[in-house]
Amino acid sequence: MTNAGIRTIDAYAYLAEEVGGCENVGFSKRDAYNLIQKEKRARIEIGDTNSLIQLFKDRQVEDHMFAWDVQYDDEDRLLNFFWVDGRSRIDYECFGDVLIFDTSYRLNKYNFVCAPFVGVNNHWQNILFGVAFLSEETIDEMIKEGNLHNHEWLQDLYKIRRKWSTAFNKDSFCMGILSTQRSECTNNVCHGISKPTSSLTDCFLGLEKVLMNWRRNEQDEDYKCSQSEIVPVIKNSSILKQAARYYSRRIYSIFEEEFIKAVGEMSIDFVSTDSSKYIVNYIEKKNQNHPWVVHFDATEGNIQCSCKKYETMGLLCSHCLRVFKQLDMAKFPEKYLLLRWSARARQVFYSGYFLNSQRSNNFQSGRGFIFRNQVSRFAYQMSTEAQGNEEAEEFILSSLQDMYKKLYLILGGKKRNEKDVASSQGGTANLKDPLKRRPKGISNARLKSHWEKKKRPKSKLLITC
Ligand SMILES: [Zn+2]
Repeated sequence: MTNAGIRTIDAYAYLAEEVGGCENVGFSKRDAYNLIQKEKRARIEIGDTNSLIQLFKDRQVEDHMFAWDVQYDDEDRLLNFFWVDGRSRIDYECFGDVLIFDTSYRLNKYNFVCAPFVGVNNHWQNILFGVAFLSEETIDEMIKEGNLHNHEWLQDLYKIRRKWSTAFNKDSFCMGILSTQRSECTNNVCHGISKPTSSLTDCFLGLEKVLMNWRRNEQDEDYKCSQSEIVPVIKNSSILKQAARYYSRRIYSIFEEEFIKAVGEMSIDFVSTDSSKYIVNYIEKKNQNHPWVVHFDATEGNIQCSCKKYETMGLLCSHCLRVFKQLDMAKFPEKYLLLRWSARARQVFYSGYFLNSQRSNNFQSGRGFIFRNQVSRFAYQMSTEAQGNEEAEEFILSSLQDMYKKLYLILGGKKRNEKDVASSQGGTANLKDPLKRRPKGISNARLKSHWEKKKRPKSKLLITC
């Protein structure tokens, strides 16, 4: 039965049904699992596992942020594996607030489940945070447990999520994306790259190609956003202009649709005396629809609708927008512009957003580490994007040299001219070590500069793009 694609648990349930109960089957569910898994793993060619691991090692040499992990069973047979490349790790930091973990695809020689961790970027495109291949045994355990408790490295992936989109409830937010994208995400990742005869290395290489395509599409969309301004359908609408300046093209078009709906289709049936509660409904078909209830707190600028579109998607609904129209508001509160949907989400993230948000949370102890991490990821992101384009590569290198010169000036605490800086960096060949001697009575402590003796505000190193 399992050879015909029926899951072990279902096959066992069928047998139990046929013979009148589990006690009459003659073996336990656990026995069935053990036998099936043993047979399957015996079929995994050792050469395939080895070449997959070799590929992981090769990638790690090319990409220092590439990470992978492999789990074996008691007989040293491959049980599960996972990998993530540098760019995916960066994507995870930017857009890890939405994570779709789908385990429904298993087209390969060994019937391993291909479980991609998929996210959504600011252009409403799928992005890949990593891929796990899991044995059936692992999947069933996970389903049984209802969570990832027994799988440390999957759990770790959840733990490291940096939730920088704090304006909404993340669990609900995930659900909003899930309902629209879940069915397509795994098929998008795996379709066409994996057949019943595919080896593990085939799957890995195929997934890399998919990833490359997705990234190319994202780059195209980034480019379009940076090159052209969005022209709102109602040219003099200040709310649409506000959204057009902020959102990516795709997100703006979703917002615009809601706005048109608000203006053209929605009416307000009831307003409470203190103007804090509104009942919104369609102008037509009033009897066929449930009205929506919108609460608005004018002092705080907080708005909440019973449809929960903002909580689930991070975008204001037509009902809230209808209330803003009722109040003749020229703009909506900026707190409802979610950074993750901004056309410049990545740039803002790398220009210190995360660092600043940590600072405001009084998270000081690990600041040095976070800062270094942030800068190295930013540099990694730029270098991978520039790679292969001669002009872009030269630009990055010369900019880094300029930055280094300016950094020297900041750290030195005094202004030096370009010539001095150049000679201090480039002309070191003739410099000699200082003599190792010290007059008596002089301490070994570093002498304080004039600027250090004076109390001065801490200098900030700003990174802009
Ligand atoms: Zn609503």
